[in-house]
This record gives sequence, structure tokens and C-alpha cells, in this order.
Amino acid sequence: MAQSSIEWTEMTWNPTTGCTKISAGCKFCYAEIMSKRLQAMGVEKYKDNFEVRTHEDSLRIPYTWKHSKVVFVNSMSDLFHKDIPLDFIKKVFVVMNENPQHVFQVLTKRAERLFEVHKELKWTHNIWMGVSVENEKVIKRIDYLSKTKAKVKFLSCEPLIGPLPKLNLKKIDWVIVGGESGHTPRPMNSDWVLDIQEQCKTNDVAFFFKQWGGKNKKANGRLLNGQTYDEMPETLLQESV
Ligand code: SF4
Repeated sequence: MAQSSIEWTEMTWNPTTGCTKISAGCKFCYAEIMSKRLQAMGVEKYKDNFEVRTHEDSLRIPYTWKHSKVVFVNSMSDLFHKDIPLDFIKKVFVVMNENPQHVFQVLTKRAERLFEVHKELKWTHNIWMGVSVENEKVIKRIDYLSKTKAKVKFLSCEPLIGPLPKLNLKKIDWVIVGGESGHTPRPMNSDWVLDIQEQCKTNDVAFFFKQWGGKNKKANGRLLNGQTYDEMPETLLQESV
């Protein structure tokens, strides 16, 4: 587990590592870059670089945290990748089920597989399930997520690389929006952000504006219309067991 600089979470926990690219949002995958770096540093968990791997020994980690945490699960991977056996996904869910004092945020681009297996998983209140929606081409992911039994459902529209004028937010609790950062970031139009914010307002959905991104993300900051938007879904900790 590691402290996270990601604005909408506290910590990361990576029971699996590695992935393969699946859509336009993956172009400058942070996990891929970091895996390479960690491999070069000799970190055992990343000895196979960005190959998909499961880590049984990491399953014990959440039991050791003394205080309640908000945890991003698999910042270095995608839990619903086809190469991660369902049995292992189930083990990750059991850990989350047995630790209702923590919020676990799981984010995937493999919404179809999530839908395929969701009935085999126990969806306690502390599991927030999200899909990435970077442009209209992948909007179907929202339908798959909406049909699952997840108690808290969210969208990560980051990196937002196109307009999303028709989001189906009926079953969605939370939307995160952010622009791409790095050396050659694809631009995010402020109208796209304002439009998503408006849709969230209309549907009474929590809205979190993460960042503008760009080449100098620090300088560009995270103010929207002169203020920050850090709304979160209501947490229902410890109601799940
Ligand atoms: S799904 Fe996520 S972790 Fe996998 S390649 Fe794409 S951005 Fe990277």
C-alpha cells in the first residue's frame, strides 16, 4: 500500500499489477510508465514490468491498517482484465467484504467483464465501483456498470478527451472529471467540463473536478469557475457485514 497523490483517494492497494491498452484513454498510461520505473529500481512486485500478475501476499495488507482508509484498488492494473482469474477477483472482493471500515474504490475499463462476473461477487456498501469514460466511444461502459449490483457507482471521465453530452446518470452516484497531463497532453475543452457538471446537477450526482491537466498541471490547477468541486458520494461504512 502507498500514500496517493490522487485527489479523490487516500491510498492505493495493488493486489494485481500489469495491464494492456484497451482504448484511447490508455494512450499515456501512468501505470505502464510507473511499472517500468519500479522494475528499473528492482522492486520485486514489478520484476515482470507491465505483464498482468496477481499478488496473493498483497491480499493481507488491508487487514493491517489501523484506521479507516479510502483506498484506490489497482492503480497499477485493471482488476477485470481478462487475464486475471475470476477466483482471484473473488479473493480481492472477500478482502473488501471483510474490511467494511475502509472504502475501496475499484475502477475499470473492462466494463463488459465486470458485468459478466458481477453476480458472483458480494457487493458490500464499502465497495465503490467505477468505469472510465474518456469519450463518447466508450459510453457503453456506463450501461454495463449501471446493471451491476454495486452499491456505489461512479464514472472517471479522465483523461477527458471529447465531449460527453448524453451521459446516462440515472444509476450513477459520483462523477470525476480531469484533463490529461504529461509531455503531450490532449486538450480538454472547458465547455465539456461545464456540460458534465450541469448534467450532474440535473441528476443530483456528486461532481468532483480533479484537474485541468496540461503540460504544467500544477500551474493549471483545479479551479472551475473560481472554485474547487470536491463532492463525494455519501459513505455507508460498516453497514455491509
Ligand atoms: S486500462 Fe488503465 S491500467 Fe490498463 S492500460 Fe489502460 S490506463 Fe493503463
